[in-house]
Amino acid sequence: MKIKGKKFLVYGLGESGRAVVDVLKRKGADVCFYDDNLEFANYIGFERDPFSKKYDCVVVSPGVNGNQNKLLEHFKNNGVRILSEIDFAYLLCKGKIIAITGTNGKTTTCLLTYKILKNSGFDAFLCGNIGLPFSAIAEKTTKNSIIVCEISSFQLELSSLFKPNIACILNLKPDHLDRHGSFDNYKKAKEKIAQNMKNENVLILNMDDEETKQMIVHKNFKFFTKKETKHGTNIVNQTICNGKKKILDIDKIKLKGEKNLENVLASVAICSHFKVKKEVFEKTIENFETASHRMEVVGDVKGATYVDDSKATNVASTLACLQAFKDRPIVLLLGGMGKDIEYDEIFESGFSIKCVVCFGMERKNISKCAEKHRQKFVVAKNLKLAVKESCLQAESGDVVLLSPACSSFDEFSSYKDRGDKFKEYVLELLNEE
Ligand code: ADP
Repeated sequence: MKIKGKKFLVYGLGESGRAVVDVLKRKGADVCFYDDNLEFANYIGFERDPFSKKYDCVVVSPGVNGNQNKLLEHFKNNGVRILSEIDFAYLLCKGKIIAITGTNGKTTTCLLTYKILKNSGFDAFLCGNIGLPFSAIAEKTTKNSIIVCEISSFQLELSSLFKPNIACILNLKPDHLDRHGSFDNYKKAKEKIAQNMKNENVLILNMDDEETKQMIVHKNFKFFTKKETKHGTNIVNQTICNGKKKILDIDKIKLKGEKNLENVLASVAICSHFKVKKEVFEKTIENFETASHRMEVVGDVKGATYVDDSKATNVASTLACLQAFKDRPIVLLLGGMGKDIEYDEIFESGFSIKCVVCFGMERKNISKCAEKHRQKFVVAKNLKLAVKESCLQAESGDVVLLSPACSSFDEFSSYKDRGDKFKEYVLELLNEE
């Protein structure tokens, strides 16, 4: 792609957009940027009237909603080249790309995959939704690099060139319907991960997920499953195997719950396409802990264990957490900002939820659903009050789970901020003890 001297507009100034601006400037492009959020309007380089200018290329950040977007329509109608941020990075990248998507488990699977490859001595990079944007590292790669990219439906929505060497779809459950409009549109965006793949590229799918087992959108595909099978990555007598080849006893895995087991299977399936020794698989998986705010034990207050699963921003991830703690009575903190999804599955799951604390903007919808299912619930205006309420409801031996099934933006700047505040509130309870 010719960049020097060409006129670029970067649309969307999140982390990825800013990374693209940096790369373009370094490479001598004539670059300006635009964001629907006018808080950036005073930055030097901000284009106040992008409709009236001509560009050779527009690079769009994943934060920009492509649906009925007047500016993007305008560029399309005028024949301007439009690249998604991952298309742009793909054009600069020299290494092999592993792209991991799915509704849940992306960060966990990417981190583990990266660590296995790194511990095997590969020149591995980790990027995408996790850590640095793909555009920030693409130029640093060589033909020997392996780039593990966490890819969301937002990144795929406007992509037309991105071509991973290995793509993995972990699972598919309703999420982000507020942006995609329907489950079908969301699924179509995920399927775009394989749209440019060639025969030598591999699509890895979860056979235990009702949706992904049918998403055979590429000829060269492989499955992973918790069941015993002859092919693919599977489990035989409590041992993860590639085909028949033993990799690891599952009781060595520190991560909790069935869904994390699926994430481990996905990483093994992906890494088996590279020369990874059994000992490296074993050591890395045995020692692996995922990132914060995912089923993270905060501590005990009056004998009840408080768990921060703030990253659970949809029903499927909350169910994964309930399953992981199924042996203990659970006080569940649900709430935040809703995403047009239904909560019934949580109350129909059969897990031992003794009380739901409904909080935040979505508290009315959740409490209505709990009432319909005759689930005991209490209501709290915000997270701080919800934590106080959960302490009144919990007894020694219980688990208090913040696994909210909603996004955090009604009260917090991110799921991280919400998780950190939760930890603070739990500490306050401890100090009051
Ligand atoms: P993502 O990057 O896709 O959001 P994470 O690994 O950050 O995935 O996990 C997000 C949430 O989903 C956490 O609450 C975690 O406990 C839960 N989770 C992790 N893996 C899975 C999975 N395979 N299926 C369902 N939920 C999962």
